[in-house]
Amino acid sequence: MCADFSRVRRFLDERDPPTPCLVVDTGVVAARAAGFRAAFPGALIRYAVKANPAPPVLNALVAAGIGFDVAGPAELARCLERGADPVDLAYGNPIKKPRDIAYAHECGVREFTSDAVDDVDNLARYAPGAAVSIRVVLDAPDSVTPFGRKFGCEPAEALDLVLHAAGVGLRPGIAFHVGSQQPDLAAWEIGIATAAKLFAEAAAQGVPMTRLNLGGGFATAHRTDVPALDAYAATIESALDTHFPDGRPELLLEPGRVLVADAGLLRTEVVLVARRGERRWVYLDVGRYNGLAEAENEAITYRVEPVEPHDGPAGPVVLAGPTCDGDDVLYQRTPYELPLSLRAGDRLDLPGTGAYTASYASVEFNGIEPLRTYCLGRWGDA
Ligand SMILES: *Cc1c(COP(=O)(O)O)cnc(C)c1O
Repeated sequence: MCADFSRVRRFLDERDPPTPCLVVDTGVVAARAAGFRAAFPGALIRYAVKANPAPPVLNALVAAGIGFDVAGPAELARCLERGADPVDLAYGNPIKKPRDIAYAHECGVREFTSDAVDDVDNLARYAPGAAVSIRVVLDAPDSVTPFGRKFGCEPAEALDLVLHAAGVGLRPGIAFHVGSQQPDLAAWEIGIATAAKLFAEAAAQGVPMTRLNLGGGFATAHRTDVPALDAYAATIESALDTHFPDGRPELLLEPGRVLVADAGLLRTEVVLVARRGERRWVYLDVGRYNGLAEAENEAITYRVEPVEPHDGPAGPVVLAGPTCDGDDVLYQRTPYELPLSLRAGDRLDLPGTGAYTASYASVEFNGIEPLRTYCLGRWGDA
């Protein structure tokens, strides 16, 4: 699906809000949600709130019948405030305090993810009888922003944990997450194969499982193309056919960025252009601490487009943020070109920035406020 920023650009032209700012079209969020549901009929969809927790975004998703993957009590409370039904919430963070488990259970949440025995024991105690998906780490290609070894247990440990969870009265299933921004479809094939093996082994030991959580990771296009949603769906479909020939489990999906990235566009202003040795440095009023955290390691390479027309040639630049921090450099290895006539005060648009931008901004590093978000469209507030 091609991204449509026409309403966002109209708003920016008419209102000319101070920069930097993110503008999100909630109509696009709703359309993305509908497209995602259509690609995975029958699956339970739990939007990963951390990607963009703006209330209008959550309102659009509640209206679209999407549930939520929450990482803790604050996200949980926000979803309930927006009118989400607790049965449509999954507490997907394996790292949680006992009191947060108890709070979630008290609110009616019955679906959790875990990857450690102490956490499973806490769930048995504070969320008795709940469904718990045991997260398994995959031997699969890294994504653009991988989780490394922070989450998930090895398959052999996962089996022990499944049996343990059943033993303490929980309802076990399996979860994996292929890493965020994962363009390699083979990762899901490996995940589903790994999960199917665990389903069979657990069943052989008298613990039949019914739920498989395929996580998130569906990529969005920035400077390079990524597979279409249909390609992800086709790979998942065929892997389920291959590895669950006798009937497939109930599926949960936790898309984050794919539902919101292309609904947002960030506008920034050039603060300074400076020549340093051979290179031309362009300093923006947005950087890694007020919205572009995912430029860390130059992992996510956003499109950067001049707003004002510039005649004449373009040339290479280093792009950096506005703060006094040496790490606040966006791109110095990735080749970027901007017009040679670019000056302080000119503006640039970064389309496709609706995910993991505003939610990642610091509160006042160097006195800079969090990234301002304007939400447009039917569920908007601007
Ligand atoms: C962040 C996260 C997601 C969403 O990942 P995307 O790559 O944005 O789709 C899903 N599930 C869990 C457990 C997460 O932590």
